[in-house]
Amino acid sequence: MEIGFNKPYQTGKETYYISDAIKRQHISGNGYYTGLCHRFFEHRYGYLKVLLTNSCTDALEMAAILLNIQPGDEIIVPSYTFTSSANAFILRGAKIVFTDSGDSNPNMNIELIKPLVNSRTKAIVAVHYGGVACDMDELMALAKKHNIFVIEDAAQAIDACYKGRPLGSIGHLGCISFHESKNITCGEGGLLIVNDERFIRRSEIIWEKGTNRAAFSRGEVSKYEWKDLGSSFLTSELNAAFLFAQLEDMDIIQSKRRATWNEYYDKLRELDGDYLPVIPWYSSNNGHSFYLVCKSAKEKKQLQSYLSENGIQAIGHYVPLHRSSYFKKLHDGRLLHNTYKFGTCLIRLPIFYSITPEEKEYIIEHVKCFFHLVRKPVTHSRDSMLVVVRA
Ligand SMILES: *Cc1c(COP(=O)(O)O)cnc(C)c1O
Repeated sequence: MEIGFNKPYQTGKETYYISDAIKRQHISGNGYYTGLCHRFFEHRYGYLKVLLTNSCTDALEMAAILLNIQPGDEIIVPSYTFTSSANAFILRGAKIVFTDSGDSNPNMNIELIKPLVNSRTKAIVAVHYGGVACDMDELMALAKKHNIFVIEDAAQAIDACYKGRPLGSIGHLGCISFHESKNITCGEGGLLIVNDERFIRRSEIIWEKGTNRAAFSRGEVSKYEWKDLGSSFLTSELNAAFLFAQLEDMDIIQSKRRATWNEYYDKLRELDGDYLPVIPWYSSNNGHSFYLVCKSAKEKKQLQSYLSENGIQAIGHYVPLHRSSYFKKLHDGRLLHNTYKFGTCLIRLPIFYSITPEEKEYIIEHVKCFFHLVRKPVTHSRDSMLVVVRA
């Protein structure tokens, strides 16, 4: 059996909506389907203002422009994240101050951020790793005290909550991704969420290449012109049409992923607790990612190759950004122990909409076999593949 790490879900309605967008003869941005997607997010989650972008990276870059990030500003970012969480601010000349993950999961530890805050700190990027919420009350209190902006990198956190509040709606700005690797996708796509009224007007201008074209298309002004900085952050109607098909299936996608997550968790519970993912009481679970945290880098590599030899693609995640080839010369030398642990020991199991009961069973049995929780080599009935367990 061969099981890849991810298989993007398709509802079957994507091509229908794309053809419809073509028939409407408006395939550039900010048309009918962009409007449908915007309204979907505003109704379902009560977001104040949203803008569909070409990626979550775009949304993060828009956030950096909106907050007027300047050279000399400091931005606090977890090191265990994707490059865009930091890169978007470096593009504006900011200095990145990396912070460590907590002990129990890869999310930032708010206590460790406190000593990093100073008069140059302009913003904190909260990454909700695997769709699991950071402790937002603690973080917002800290930010308020020091007059700092909070941007939620909710790239993986669609349809997830903190104490019942949708992620992306709590910081000043939020960013979601619709990259192929995420729960809901349109290939490449993203969303900027504006939670502070002060930013609404300017966010539309930045989105439309620095012009007030969005106001023009609503008939509010008779011509549009260059107003501010911006770029081409808005996504084409073809992508928006694809995305809308997926949004309509949100509930079935999410419940299926959550069920897979729960099955992995329940059936691997026999493992010592340190291996299992930790979701704090204040966070929901959107089934984005199921991972194990091995005891050592060596054990992780062995598990990964054992699964790979048996056709299962399990993968680690981030190379900590403070140790990346680009940033290591810029880092201030602080050791980030938990980031290092997750960087070397975390391994993710396949999780996607169309994973079958047989595939899940096969994966679980092999993980158990590796940890000697089951003794017998697994034979799989469907293709009668004999799996030989190495000592
Ligand atoms: C996927 C991801 C991004 C980037 O999203 P794109 O839509 O590919 O730009 C940023 N941050 C995190 C935490 C991600 O997981």
